[in-house]
Amino acid sequence: MIVNAKKMNPDTFHPTSLEGHAEPIEGRATNLFEVAAAQLDKAIDAMNLDPSVATAISQPKNELIIHFPVRLSSGKVELFKGYRVQHNNILGPYKGGIRFHEGVYLDECKALAAWMTWKTALQDIPYGGAKGGVKFNPRDYSKEDQERITRRFTHALGTNIGPEWDIPAPDMGTNSDHMDWMMDTYSNIVADKQGVKRVVTGKSVPVGGSRGRTEATGRGVVTCIEKWAELKKLDLAGMTLAVQGFGNVGSHTATIISRRGVILLAAGDHTGYYFNPEGFNPYRLRDHVKETGSLKGYPGGQEISREEFFATQCDILVPAALELQISAEEAEKLNCKVVVDAANGPTDLEGERVIAERGIDIIPDVLANSGGVVVSYYEWLQNKRSETWEKDEVRAKLEAKMRKAYDRVIEKCEELKVDMRTACYILALENIQTVYQRRGIWP
Ligand code: GLU
Repeated sequence: MIVNAKKMNPDTFHPTSLEGHAEPIEGRATNLFEVAAAQLDKAIDAMNLDPSVATAISQPKNELIIHFPVRLSSGKVELFKGYRVQHNNILGPYKGGIRFHEGVYLDECKALAAWMTWKTALQDIPYGGAKGGVKFNPRDYSKEDQERITRRFTHALGTNIGPEWDIPAPDMGTNSDHMDWMMDTYSNIVADKQGVKRVVTGKSVPVGGSRGRTEATGRGVVTCIEKWAELKKLDLAGMTLAVQGFGNVGSHTATIISRRGVILLAAGDHTGYYFNPEGFNPYRLRDHVKETGSLKGYPGGQEISREEFFATQCDILVPAALELQISAEEAEKLNCKVVVDAANGPTDLEGERVIAERGIDIIPDVLANSGGVVVSYYEWLQNKRSETWEKDEVRAKLEAKMRKAYDRVIEKCEELKVDMRTACYILALENIQTVYQRRGIWP
């Protein structure tokens, strides 16, 4: 008998056949994997990558889609759709975040997983790339129900994740609470209960997380901006900033860089965009978001449109929200010196072309936001060695690693006369190519 799930569960059924991503819009990219594939092609051409390596990395190794029922606190059963894409593991275990968002779709996870492969290879940490998510809006669910969903998803993933196989972490819509629940659930389904803490990173510190992990992505973004300013011989003090997305990454970027005298002129999130010519206090703004869940209703500053936000006259623009935010339309209006990809894939191909033509710099995502996975690696190492490192030690190691990667990228740009994103890809691909060539593709 064929069961019509929609009939059985009319309010809550999450479509399985429709991937559910944005409707195509003329002139704008809507499929993230197409953007990732075009970026990869550009790098392959620029470096003459071994064709057999190019073939091996052109698609993810594994794509898992799971439908899992959850009994919510109300007693009602709802069906959820979860993904885990494992892109590549030639350099080490699959690694990457879990996203809770109503717009999650397969090709998005594929693109995000591929970017994790390039990110870890660029940073020279012994990991591959993965990404996953559950298609729902966590804002519509209580903390208790989010725990039920997280635990049920982890149980359904089973041994498709593992401390030496595939290591999830937080991403949009998830944080250390979700990682603690994932780790606990996983440890309850395997025999080695104590040795598996490192099956996820981004846990809370008491549960085995690393000091400095929560701030790490934002801190890495700031180190990149510092390097950019140093190389351009610009003084950061007095520079102005606009940040799209005021979650973990956006808020840490704004608070950490404010200590260098950078002024936050504009900020936006899912509720709208806000401008303050005097500059926002990023700490108060962050506290407001923590208390109320969004930027809306913050006293001080005025509401502006999305168009006005992207046209804000500022030095540094940090997209730290969803992907595909800057297409040609936004790029033509930008009024900044540098776009720093704190989000993954915030700019589409046309947007990137216009930005480059207009002489605006881009610090690409795989470099700019790699601080998160770098400190995830430190967390994994600490768990493996039963150590706990001090916050200052984590910060110092992260900063040195970000600076070194930035220098290598700039060197590659100069050597091959390519843009920074292509240079990042080439460095990552050279690393991957060397290992493929030595290990071989067997049998
Ligand atoms: N989700 C983050 C990213 O996109 C962190 C991944 C990780 O720490 O594994 O880089």
